[in-house]
Amino acid sequence: MEATSHKPRSTHSRAQWDRLTTEIETCQRCPLGATRTHAVVYRGSLRPRVVFVGEAPGAEEDRTGRPFVGRSGRRLDAAVARLGLSESEYGVLNLLKCRPPANRFDARAARTCRPYLDRQLDWLRPRVLVPLGRQALRALVPGAPSVLMAAGRPWPARPAPLFPLLHPAAALRSRRWAERWERDVDALGAWLRAGAKTP
Ligand code: URA
Repeated sequence: MEATSHKPRSTHSRAQWDRLTTEIETCQRCPLGATRTHAVVYRGSLRPRVVFVGEAPGAEEDRTGRPFVGRSGRRLDAAVARLGLSESEYGVLNLLKCRPPANRFDARAARTCRPYLDRQLDWLRPRVLVPLGRQALRALVPGAPSVLMAAGRPWPARPAPLFPLLHPAAALRSRRWAERWERDVDALGAWLRAGAKTP
C-alpha cells in the first residue's frame, strides 16, 4: 500500500520498508491470510512524529487495503485535523494487519502479527505513539490499566512515549463518549504543543 514519500533515516532504507510492506501484503502466517481481501499495512508519512495504533482492519479497510477509512477512520481524521497535524507529521497502522472474521479481535493472530508492528515502528521511529482503544494499549503496555483510566494523559514507554485515546468507534456510540473523545484529543493536542514530555 502506498505511503506518503519522505526521505528515510540514513540507517533505514526505503527498500527495507518496501520489503516489509510486501512481506505483510503476502503474509500467510495465520488463518486470517486465507480470509482477507487485502492486508492493511500503513497510511501516512514515512517520517511521522505521531503514529496512531488501531486494533484491526474492518470491512472497508479490508476492501481498500488502507487503515481507518470507514466511520472510525473519519472520526480519527477529524481528530487529526483538530490536532493540526499535517500529512507529513503522522501515520496510521493496526496491531492486526488482516481483518478478523466478524471483526472479532483475534488475540492469537495478534501475537503472530506482532513482529510486523515492531518492525514498522522500528523503521518509522515516531516520537509519539497513540494507542487507540484497549487492545492497542494492552499490546504496547502489558499490564496497563483500563483504557478508560489511561486515555487522555501521557505514559512514559519504549520505543516512544504514549498518549492513549479511546478507540474512535467509542466516540460514535453516544454523545457522552464523543465528549470524552474530544476532551482527550484536546489534551493530546496541548501535550504535543508543549513538547510531548512524559511525567
Ligand atoms: N478500526 C481499527 O482499529 N482499525 C481500522 O483500520 C479500522 C477500524
